[in-house]
Amino acid sequence: MKIIRGINDLTGKKVLLRTDFDLPILENGMIAEIFRIKKQKETIDYLANKDAKIVLVAHISPPAGGSFSAILPQLEQILNRKIEFIRDIPDIQKFLNSSGASIGLLDNIRNFKGEKENDESFASELAKGFDIYVNNAFAVCHRNQASVSAITSFLPSYAGFLIEEEIRNLQKAMSAPIEDKVIIIGGAKASTKAPVIKNFLDKAEMILLGGVVANDVIKQKGYDVGDSLVDENVAEVLAGIDLNNPKIVIPEDFNLSGERILDIGPKTAERYSRIISNAKTVIWNGPMGMFEKEEFSKGTKAVAEAVIGVRNSIIGGGDTISAIGKLGLIDPDSISFQDNYGASKFTFISTGGGAMLEFLAGNVLPGIRALQK
Ligand code: ADP
Ligand code: MG
Repeated sequence: MKIIRGINDLTGKKVLLRTDFDLPILENGMIAEIFRIKKQKETIDYLANKDAKIVLVAHISPPAGGSFSAILPQLEQILNRKIEFIRDIPDIQKFLNSSGASIGLLDNIRNFKGEKENDESFASELAKGFDIYVNNAFAVCHRNQASVSAITSFLPSYAGFLIEEEIRNLQKAMSAPIEDKVIIIGGAKASTKAPVIKNFLDKAEMILLGGVVANDVIKQKGYDVGDSLVDENVAEVLAGIDLNNPKIVIPEDFNLSGERILDIGPKTAERYSRIISNAKTVIWNGPMGMFEKEEFSKGTKAVAEAVIGVRNSIIGGGDTISAIGKLGLIDPDSISFQDNYGASKFTFISTGGGAMLEFLAGNVLPGIRALQK
């Protein structure tokens, strides 16, 4: 894989930079979580300080909206850079040929036909006028999409600093000794989490479950989960996992609302905290409950506090980051670029949700494979 540090001269080079600005937006229009933006800053600054002309390409998911136009001023402020808004693909040429601003942001790439289909002709259209492609969007590397994958056929392609940092840290977590390694999986979307459970059964000492994923397993084991939320196709998704494996730990008590399980209970929180405290490496994705509501955030808080005390703590996932942000465990002013030094009490916070899980499940991500060609 080629990395941007290896590029000799960037002066005047036209760089297509795939970034990750898939941000939660509050009802008042404010960006709710700036962690992912801050993690892009080092690569953007590096390219800009070497006088490259940069077009940022990124997506933003609904319901936050179809366009970046409304949040551009906030992005400019957080990145401390003037950024020109580029509405459409043909406008990229105008920007590249202008003598003005050195950073532009193309509107939501997923609004353009061909992106999600990884369409070759769209990718070649997108590549027009550029000298170099840089991928710094680790969180989308599990997607086979044009601005992540097909684009690499049309431009010399490099990994940004964040991709390097994510790979290095996640690999380190995977190769840490199996003894004393604990995996915690919560949240929803069992289809993305089940492969990780499967992969870690012989690569970790314990797998602690919470959230909707725990509901799924409890239901699949034949217990009554009342009105609790469960994922679709649970039987299918969990097929092939021996749910009676003693390494898989499920909650023993709950915090309920009527018949709905909305958080792990105090006994479980205590038991999980004890197991976590004895670990040397912990990998955590997914809140233990509906943490957005204060009364159902206790399990997540207990787990977060225990994880902080572990020597090697790796966490990731959009909602997991939001949860620890809400708990005051990330200092937004000191989110740094390399290894989060000073920014948080965790060893490493991955910007990837699905991408981190797929990486940890042992899969080669399409976006990373494309950079290795
Ligand atoms: P991440 O983004 O960190 O990977 P997920 O997206 O998988 O996490 O899951 C987070 C969501 O799961 C949160 O919105 C949270 O409210 C929800 N959740 C967790 N536990 C429960 C539960 N018991 N019932 C309903 N929703 C839950
Ligand atoms: Mg999520």
